[in-house]
Amino acid sequence: MAEAKITKRSEDYSRWYTDVIAAAELADYAPVKGCMIIRPNGYAIWEKMQQALDGMFKETGHQNAYFPMLIPESFLKKEAEHVEGFAPEVAVVTHAGGQKLEEPLGIRPTSETIIWNTYKNWIQSYRDLPLLLNQWCNVVRWEMRTRLFLRTTEFLWQEGHTAHATYEDAEEEALRMLGVYRRFAEDFMAIPVIEGLKTEREKFAGAHHTYCIESLMGDGKALQAGTSHHLGQNFAKAFEVTFQTQQGTREFVYATSWGLTTRMIGAMIMVHGDDNGIVIPPRLATTQVAVVPIFRKPEEGSRVMEAISKFTLPFKPAGIGFKIDTRENYSPGWKFNDWEKRGVPLRIEVGPKDLEKNQVMLARRDNGEKTPVAQDGLEKVINVTLDDIQKSLFERAREFRDKHSHRVDDYKKFVDILDGEGGFLWCHWCGSDRCEEQIKTETKATIRCIPMQVESEAGACLKCGGKSERRVIFARAY
Ligand SMILES: [Zn+2]
Repeated sequence: MAEAKITKRSEDYSRWYTDVIAAAELADYAPVKGCMIIRPNGYAIWEKMQQALDGMFKETGHQNAYFPMLIPESFLKKEAEHVEGFAPEVAVVTHAGGQKLEEPLGIRPTSETIIWNTYKNWIQSYRDLPLLLNQWCNVVRWEMRTRLFLRTTEFLWQEGHTAHATYEDAEEEALRMLGVYRRFAEDFMAIPVIEGLKTEREKFAGAHHTYCIESLMGDGKALQAGTSHHLGQNFAKAFEVTFQTQQGTREFVYATSWGLTTRMIGAMIMVHGDDNGIVIPPRLATTQVAVVPIFRKPEEGSRVMEAISKFTLPFKPAGIGFKIDTRENYSPGWKFNDWEKRGVPLRIEVGPKDLEKNQVMLARRDNGEKTPVAQDGLEKVINVTLDDIQKSLFERAREFRDKHSHRVDDYKKFVDILDGEGGFLWCHWCGSDRCEEQIKTETKATIRCIPMQVESEAGACLKCGGKSERRVIFARAY
């Protein structure tokens, strides 16, 4: 078997990223440019993400449904901003069944249009509200430049679509789901995020306003980790969705939508990975512990295996996902390396010498520490250690982000930092579209968000010197 070599992260970040994906067998390129094959190791992470998020959606009162991926082209054209925003990315089916279709069908880039066309039939009265649905599916947005997980023509996601009687109810929902995303990113993916509002320029096409969570990658670039949109009455008006109020009047319905995608796997790789490969946070790992037996003679082997089957017995009841590496013809050292590349959080090494002391060696993927641990009650130590790894990964990522967050008031310094180590640059901005655009053209940095829960502070716009009431976050982004 050929050894895939991993390029050093400091040498070439982008090659490092592709190398660790290949080494961990997470994904592969597809015959159609821009598409991606998600391999079992990658899909297992997505399944864990789905389970966690789906549970949180249901706890907050949502149900899952499924809408078709083919959308009549006329639907996509009904909401003016939406058309403008998505038109260049939509793939269109023009022929099927051996003939030209009467009306071309768009492959969903997102499902607001087909869902709101359906809500028209489902919503008549205030009693039908709120309507809280989510769907798990794939979407297609045509891409020329591909990066596995980060930028692909087809990707997997969930999209929530809710309908409400009032602006306030929709606002509450949009913020509630932003909170769900933040908790998911921080508690499960161990990725610290900043909650904020998108600028008019960066908001979702067709939204009244867009909230987002933003995270910082290991190379100092930002990544949008999830978005939650207050759609106002825009889609209700485009699809004529009205309801009878308690007072007997008819009103347009208010809407939200919110999505999180397989991009987050790319974020996980970039936030936690190192020169030895990816690192999977314990709460997203199907295999949390890999057990590697060490022996030379067959007699030793049977004693080691016997001990393993005994001390792993309580693992399953304790909720620990584990694998015993019985592969023949590979040295223990090769196996250690292999599990490291796959990002498995913990490794147990056990040989004849450990048996004499009734212990095993426990090796952490996050910091490389090796500790001898008694075989009795091992499952308790493992669970405590997994929790500690989960927390440490988050803390490490937060420290990195804080170290790469700067308050900048000078444009030259702003450019220097961007061209150097990057990061989140907290700067004053006057609120004008023109300054935002100029900065983007000149530096490729965008306003990632207008952060929430931040005190106002008087200052001068980084670009024009105009009045500013608060700092916003600029960064180059994926
Ligand atoms: Zn300005």
